[in-house]
Amino acid sequence: LSCKNDKDKGVNVQVILRCRPLSEEEARMRTPVVISCNEPRREVSAMQNIANKQIDRTFAFDKVFGPTSQQKDLFNHSISPIVNEVLEGYNCTIFAYGQTGTGKTYTMEGGGKKAKNGEFPSDAGVIPRSVRQIFDTLEAQCAEYSMKVTFLELYNEEITDLLAPDESKFPDDKSKKPIALMEDGKGGVFVRGLEEEVVRTASEIYKILEKGSAKRRTAETLLNKQSSRSHSIFSITIHIKEVTPEGEEMIKIGKLNLVDLAGSENISRSGARDGRAREAGEINKSLLTLGRVINTLVEHSGHIPYRDSKLTRLLRDSLGGKTKTCIIATISPSIYCLEETLSTLDYAHRAK
Ligand code: ADP
Ligand code: MG
Repeated sequence: LSCKNDKDKGVNVQVILRCRPLSEEEARMRTPVVISCNEPRREVSAMQNIANKQIDRTFAFDKVFGPTSQQKDLFNHSISPIVNEVLEGYNCTIFAYGQTGTGKTYTMEGGGKKAKNGEFPSDAGVIPRSVRQIFDTLEAQCAEYSMKVTFLELYNEEITDLLAPDESKFPDDKSKKPIALMEDGKGGVFVRGLEEEVVRTASEIYKILEKGSAKRRTAETLLNKQSSRSHSIFSITIHIKEVTPEGEEMIKIGKLNLVDLAGSENISRSGARDGRAREAGEINKSLLTLGRVINTLVEHSGHIPYRDSKLTRLLRDSLGGKTKTCIIATISPSIYCLEETLSTLDYAHRAK
């Protein structure tokens, strides 16, 4: 098999596949299902009808979650071990990749049920569950720690801070410093002026997610954006104080990036067709560069083109080296999505 789990080489890319259930509407319309998930074999098959012949294509992944899989199953099996790495002081990244409407945001944030008296709803996604695990683990260890989060959006290779105070009344205020991606001189990057929020309890994370998505909606209407064309990056940084056996104090720093990528249909539908060539091109650039970076990491095939897009520059310190990367590819079971589903399966499969 490949070296993807070879820790000595430091490359650790896991690709998991999640197929959402048919929506109520799709079920009512008796939408034909063309995807079958074999969870024990970790395989997904797509049924295609070409010239009246049924042709099945089967793809293997590190893990497959079928339409009845629950948020907690995906988290406990595939994400929880990564959160533990972060608590050990590593930088890790989790991506949701797939066509718009296939469950990227559902998987990362949740299904939108409200939290009740501090308890998570059952449809809570990867972000709140990660935060909870971090708090629970550190509290159990009686560790001294602090946790900060940032939430940004990348649209058209431009960064918007989703946690910045609302300036929607003055969107053109020139006195506002533009958000810029800066080199730190040590091979890393930072985003100048990005708002960092200190999080003290797991349930606070819902307020932060709400604030971020409200901001995203405002920016969308004001600037005529389409959310399916933007990437969002939610980053959690934890500082943990440790005392060595010699009595020396040390700070261990871990970072977790949770990335809800632009709809993958933007890759195939790029071009000048709808007069949005630049946008499509830029989305393309980030998604395609991400694919190339991951391929290069997995194959150890030389120069890693981090610099070719903002997305990969932003995530550079958390991709490759001693980090863990997980791609959650999301698909729909519907016949009407088959073409996009096949391209998602291909992209995700190549990242393995
Ligand atoms: P995306 O972010 O990829 O555009 P969404 O996360 O918004 O897609 O999902 C589209 C719709 O499908 C939402 O109404 C969401 O609640 C629902 N959905 C997605 N994945 C699942 C799932 N695994 N189980 C139940 N509902 C889901
Ligand atoms: Mg979404």
